[in-house]
Amino acid sequence: MQQIVENQREFFHTQHTKSISFRKEYLKKLMSAIEKYEDEICDAIFLDFKKPKFETILTETQFVLAELNTAIKKLNSWAKPARKSTSWANWPSSDYIYKEPYGTVLIIAPWNYPFQLAIAPLIGALAAGNTAVIKPSEITPNTSEIIVKIITEVFPENYVTVVEGGVEASQNLLAQKWDYIFFTGSSKVGQIVYKSAAKYLTPVTLELGGKNPTIVDATANIAVAARRIAWGKFLNAGQTCIATDYILVHKTVKEKLIHELIETIKSFYSSEIASSPDFARTVSAKHFEGLLAMLEGEKIIFGGENNPVDNYLAPTLLDESKMESKVMEGEIFGPILPIISYETLADIDTYMSNYEKPLATYVFSADKKFQDTILSKYSFGGGAINDTVIHIANKNLPFGGVGASGIGAYHGKISFDTFSHSKAILKKGTWLDIPLRYPPYKLSLDFAKKLKKMF
Ligand code: NAD
Repeated sequence: MQQIVENQREFFHTQHTKSISFRKEYLKKLMSAIEKYEDEICDAIFLDFKKPKFETILTETQFVLAELNTAIKKLNSWAKPARKSTSWANWPSSDYIYKEPYGTVLIIAPWNYPFQLAIAPLIGALAAGNTAVIKPSEITPNTSEIIVKIITEVFPENYVTVVEGGVEASQNLLAQKWDYIFFTGSSKVGQIVYKSAAKYLTPVTLELGGKNPTIVDATANIAVAARRIAWGKFLNAGQTCIATDYILVHKTVKEKLIHELIETIKSFYSSEIASSPDFARTVSAKHFEGLLAMLEGEKIIFGGENNPVDNYLAPTLLDESKMESKVMEGEIFGPILPIISYETLADIDTYMSNYEKPLATYVFSADKKFQDTILSKYSFGGGAINDTVIHIANKNLPFGGVGASGIGAYHGKISFDTFSHSKAILKKGTWLDIPLRYPPYKLSLDFAKKLKKMF
């Protein structure tokens, strides 16, 4: 591991990655390789957890291709020193922010969007001029393999490389000195990463998880809400960091919402969900068993069918899960959807204040005042009004958590900024040297007292 980091650091010091044309050349090569291997990527993720090809194209390959497209098109303007207005105290000067790469960065990815979450941060890292080491998840070995194939084909090892493996490999990597660490995964492992980074004061982005509520009030369009919640929840078989974790629904529309959710699920996947080509599987036996354990003692309204042979768990709706129950303890991360009724804002508050700040929150309502109340009262990474999940698809919006759901954000230009240090530079000529700041100070004391307006 140490040798890999040293080789990359040495390459970084050659200054090659500082050239914008060099960065663009490799971003283009990466783009071509992803296009070339798009079918193989789909096959790999299908082998890992039967993710439907459409979902892989939508949320993995085309997602990163769009990020690449933007980075290649915009890199010149992103990387240009940005002129800032000067302060009177420094007049005459011209002031700038220079974007500089951190150096050698480590990217650790999870299994749930195994291609996107390894490659999207890489695009930001390379656009900003860094070298990178990627550690994909060991839980999706077929995707890990295709990532190795693409990266080895496109990049010299001292520029970008992949280290495969599990916890041990990850911890060995974390023991090295990095210039930036970008981690996507659970809050628990996020704490381990943060501690390792502290040793060298390495800056981090932590993209973590949370328990995301979707609130449906009495004014909501229930049929549309059901479709948009079900799509966001059962996409990737519920293994999405920004999927609805549980629904808080006004008691007057609860039955209608349940009815619409059931109809929607049937219309998406037919009545034979296990044989639908459009519904993925839970990623491993361990995760599957963890989900089944959450169903113990719960009132199942719909679903619950399962098959350990391929870790199949049907989209499952639960009625009025208790806050103390296993399913309401932590992030569910599977196709289980507790539906809980509320009557007052105070009821909502009981749930919202019981959990750490989530990665996402969604509100379905036609009442603008209600929407604004939720938006202004509660802190969460991001979200949507009258939809779920799709805020991730706007590259102009920062994607990241707050508090226990993460530190930092990325996508589009924000990725470039994340992987760049903003270096403040003030430029002066020597033709004028106003003496007010030089001793003896007594001559400029009156001037000093007026400085508050001049910085
Ligand atoms: P995880 O934290 O178990 O693993 C993530 C990565 O860390 C993997 O590469 C793994 O090998 C490594 N790792 C695991 N244990 C480690 C340890 N003890 N020390 C060092 N490294 C270790 O997460 P996961 O199960 O792969 O992914 C699911 C989690 O990720 C969920 O909590 C989900 O919400 C979160 N997530 C967040 C985002 C986001 O963008 N915010 C996106 C996807 C997933």
